[in-house]
Amino acid sequence: MPSKPPSLRPRKVSAARKLSNWTTTRASRQARGYGREHELMRAQVLREEPLCRICTAEHRISPTEIADHIVPKAEGGSDERDNYQGLCRPCHKAKTARESARARRK
Ligand SMILES: [Zn+2]
Repeated sequence: MPSKPPSLRPRKVSAARKLSNWTTTRASRQARGYGREHELMRAQVLREEPLCRICTAEHRISPTEIADHIVPKAEGGSDERDNYQGLCRPCHKAKTARESARARRK
């Protein structure tokens, strides 16, 4: 998986533009917590939660595609299993948009 999917994370780009030096200020894929550990966690979440948690709560059935941090790492969320949930892509996109809006208000 590419470390920076442009279409899914437009916020990353605008945030990055504010940084004067992308190459030295941006943490590595590993340091950001999306290395091998994340891959293992993602596999576990998809196995344990085959259906999107938000859709399930709203009586829809959508397969999990994303292992999502319930509390975003940017807001101090952990990489523990209990901070992960399985989400479908549309729910993840909506949640990420809400988090980005929250980050902008800070
Ligand atoms: Zn969903």
